[in-house]
Amino acid sequence: MSDAIRFEGVVKTYGAKRALDGLDLVVPRGSIFGLIGSNGAGKTTFMSVTAGLVRFNEGRVDVLGGGPFDPVRQRGRLAILPQDAHPPAYARVGSLLEYYAQLQGLGGAAARKAAGDVLQWVNLADRRESPTRSLSHGMLRRFTIAQAFLGDPEIVILDEPMSGLDPVQVDSLRKLIAGRRGAQTIILSSHILSDLELLCDHVAFIENGRLLRQGPISEITRRGSHLGYHLDRAPDVAALSAGLAGVELIWNPAASVLDATYGEPEWTAATLNAALLPRLLAAGVGVLEVSRGSNLEREYLRNAALGPPASSRS
Ligand code: ATP
Repeated sequence: MSDAIRFEGVVKTYGAKRALDGLDLVVPRGSIFGLIGSNGAGKTTFMSVTAGLVRFNEGRVDVLGGGPFDPVRQRGRLAILPQDAHPPAYARVGSLLEYYAQLQGLGGAAARKAAGDVLQWVNLADRRESPTRSLSHGMLRRFTIAQAFLGDPEIVILDEPMSGLDPVQVDSLRKLIAGRRGAQTIILSSHILSDLELLCDHVAFIENGRLLRQGPISEITRRGSHLGYHLDRAPDVAALSAGLAGVELIWNPAASVLDATYGEPEWTAATLNAALLPRLLAAGVGVLEVSRGSNLEREYLRNAALGPPASSRS
């Protein structure tokens, strides 16, 4: 996979505030990429710089292999849906989308077709003649998602597309976006990490305008190297560890979870379970659940507590 976006040491200041403080970030082409970070971490600023909407002060930005993105010269190749985007209230759904398609550079018939296609895709074809003010919150969100995907831009950026939606709408939006996997590069942010975990194939953790960590989600959540044993009491970790060379066992009393970290190919999930479960049961410890890999939320909190990698600390 080549890069869709590459940031190297990017700094963006607002007065004295360094919204991006030497950000290094690579978004692989064709990925569904999740941006994770606390309020004020720099996610929206990263999106705005990527879309060429705000200038940066230092560093290198490359979008689609052509340097910083130029929204005029490269129109139609990238679309951004800002947080809480609202279309004009008195426009009609279909004609507004056609107008947006024309702004993307499509001619009359092509714009009409593109508007019809995206309305079909987001299940709003029957609202084509409705004024946008008559749409529910979930429908409005689907309308703005349709707008972002108009004309199939190579990069689509969605800032918190799921916020304020009910679980059914979130599920339907997730399926819509997942259906585009591989066809476009899709970048999205959300504070609901379980949504991102279900949808994204790559994620980045950002704090204070810097990268904490990025990578494929399977790597971040350590699916091939971590098992968690939810137990009904504290085990004797020293006794359990005997003879398990290459396995690190850590008891987490707050969660009542024994975390086991191992390296393949010496150990696999199956061989570690075969070794560990009989020992736990023989010691009279109840095993309530075994889970493979960590989850995104736990890994984000762990990385946020560790801070940026030593090489990027100034
Ligand atoms: P959230 O999750 O709350 O949306 P975020 O990660 O998107 O946050 P940004 O909106 O990128 O964060 O903001 C990064 C920092 O830059 C914050 O400290 C914010 O206050 C500051 N900032 C962003 N835009 C501006 C602006 N136009 N003027 C001044 N400061 C700004």
